[in-house]
Amino acid sequence: MKAIAVFPASREVKLIEQVEPVITQPDQVKLRMPDVGICGTDKEICTFVYGTPPADSDYLVIGHEALGEVVEIGAAVTHLAPGDLVVPTVRRPCPHTGCRSCRAGHQDFCETGDFTERGIKGTHGYLAEFVVDGAQYMNLVPPHLREIAVLVEPLTIAEKAEHQLYGLMQRRPPWTDPAVSERTQGHGRKALVLGAGPVGLLGAMALRTAEFETFVYSREQEPDPRIAVTREIGATYLSSQTLPTDQLETRIGPIDLVYEAVGHSLLALEVLHALGPNGIYVLTGVPGLQTLIEADPAALFREMVLKNQMVLGTVNAGPQAFEAAISDLAIFYQRWPHAMLALMANRIPIEQAAERILERPAGIKSVISFQL
Ligand code: BGC
Repeated sequence: MKAIAVFPASREVKLIEQVEPVITQPDQVKLRMPDVGICGTDKEICTFVYGTPPADSDYLVIGHEALGEVVEIGAAVTHLAPGDLVVPTVRRPCPHTGCRSCRAGHQDFCETGDFTERGIKGTHGYLAEFVVDGAQYMNLVPPHLREIAVLVEPLTIAEKAEHQLYGLMQRRPPWTDPAVSERTQGHGRKALVLGAGPVGLLGAMALRTAEFETFVYSREQEPDPRIAVTREIGATYLSSQTLPTDQLETRIGPIDLVYEAVGHSLLALEVLHALGPNGIYVLTGVPGLQTLIEADPAALFREMVLKNQMVLGTVNAGPQAFEAAISDLAIFYQRWPHAMLALMANRIPIEQAAERILERPAGIKSVISFQL
């Protein structure tokens, strides 16, 4: 069967032939993979600055934003059946008995760093025609979401962040409002999303759904599909080409929440200065190697203390975030069908994947499909 793999030692990304996997444990499922999304992490892996092959392999099969169709189940699997659509969680627990997070099923909060991530760190990913995996890591997706289900994994980032945010807000009196629930936590609040890639736009949709007045700040200028999506979801687009970061506060007013989805440390630092009083700054981008920045941390920390500000880094996601992402994706699809399909505009056949993974997508998200 076909798969896409990176070979870090020879610095190659190529289509390989692999033996089709078989179920070896009763709690496993076998999946056929119709669609696998490509994100910034995959691009970093394919430029050899990130990612680790399994210990016994000189290559890593990439792909972690996956949609699978169950084709076979192990004898002990009761909650899934052939034909079901599933999105797998990415991270697998570390082996250490002392890691409370992994032992409790919260490997997205692993304490040792010895977790594995499918397609990223220590285990092969999903960019293969067939995959065998543990049934407990599968999240069931309703059939009507098939076309866009590959967006579940990137949406889990916002879902995990929003869930934590709500808990934090409950202990910050200016945010506490008994009339506001987790679903409406943004009521009367302003959020700024940095970056109009898929993670940023899905984050903006989640923030709009939670009733935040939402602004998206990115480098694109009209005409651009990202700007069209921003408008369609009722958010305001601000281009960094015409509005420098030091004017954000004047343009928007006090910013309650920043949702960073770029992975650019200079931009992230500059925008931190624009965060409003009692504001929360969520970092989701993973910056690669970047040039050193001259900064005045004393001024920055002074402002943060005097304004009760908080910076929250968040990575990966657990089952609760996947469940929330699946149900929110259905809501987004109903509310903004055109925007959701616009996000998905770029499908690449598996045969062209190795050459085209690094290209800027013609639409917003690149998806590798086995069925084109
Ligand atoms: C993936 C996460 C992963 C992170 C760091 C992201 O692209 O979506 O699952 O934890 O990269 O490896």
